[in-house]
Amino acid sequence: MAEQQCKNCGNNFWGKYCNICGEKVYTEKDKTLGHIIGEGLHFLTHFEGKFFNTLKVIFLRPGKLSLDYCNGIRKKYFKPLSFFLMLVILYLLFPVFQGLNMKLEYHVTHNLYGNFASSEVASILNVTHVSAATLAESFHRAGEKTSKFLLFLIIPFVALFSWLLGYRKRKLYYDHFVFTIETCSFFILWGFLILPLFVILLNLITNIRINSENSIGFFILGVFAIYTMAASKRFFNFSWLYSILYAILMPVFLAGFIEYIYKFILFYIAIKLA
Ligand SMILES: [Zn+2]
Repeated sequence: MAEQQCKNCGNNFWGKYCNICGEKVYTEKDKTLGHIIGEGLHFLTHFEGKFFNTLKVIFLRPGKLSLDYCNGIRKKYFKPLSFFLMLVILYLLFPVFQGLNMKLEYHVTHNLYGNFASSEVASILNVTHVSAATLAESFHRAGEKTSKFLLFLIIPFVALFSWLLGYRKRKLYYDHFVFTIETCSFFILWGFLILPLFVILLNLITNIRINSENSIGFFILGVFAIYTMAASKRFFNFSWLYSILYAILMPVFLAGFIEYIYKFILFYIAIKLA
């Protein structure tokens, strides 16, 4: 094979792909209809293969996705942040699950910012003269999509906490960021997609009614803690004791973050949009 000049970036190189930008060398043979259809199908199967491979690794080998990704083994996986985005979109497509979109009533009685929330609501009612019920309704509608997109906020905060907890391992914030995407992907899959689906099915098939929000919340966090223990052990190479500590503190931090920071931001944005 002769030396090629890249059509995309002008670099001279040997082989089938440009070593600077990755552009492929196309020949006459590549310019058939069959080829372009094949390429399209290849993208689909490739996309699907990577997606399910990533999903499988997240469930079956906690921590491995982050470990591989940070060690430069990336081709066989979906990019972690894109994967997380896909999950949020999937979650957006299932409006049956309320998840974290709390009613206005919940916010105004919140033990931390409840007073602030009720005075905000009172001043809006004062200015606009809409009824409290109408405001509550439009607030709920505004919160529906917002609550899901705000899930992205969790990652940088949790990664920072992880960085502090795992400080003595001297890993970069980047590594914690990747690891947090993995554990939060599991959190969304498990807590917002799989478990709610299971509860709905249980309600349809049997007479068992699960209506205690708190017990569901604890169950979600409990499973998340076990997952985090296994994942942090593999990724950080912690001792068992330290991974247990990490796995107890992480869900506590996550729950606290959601309860006090996330919900406050959600209230603040949704009330402005309402
Ligand atoms: Zn090039």
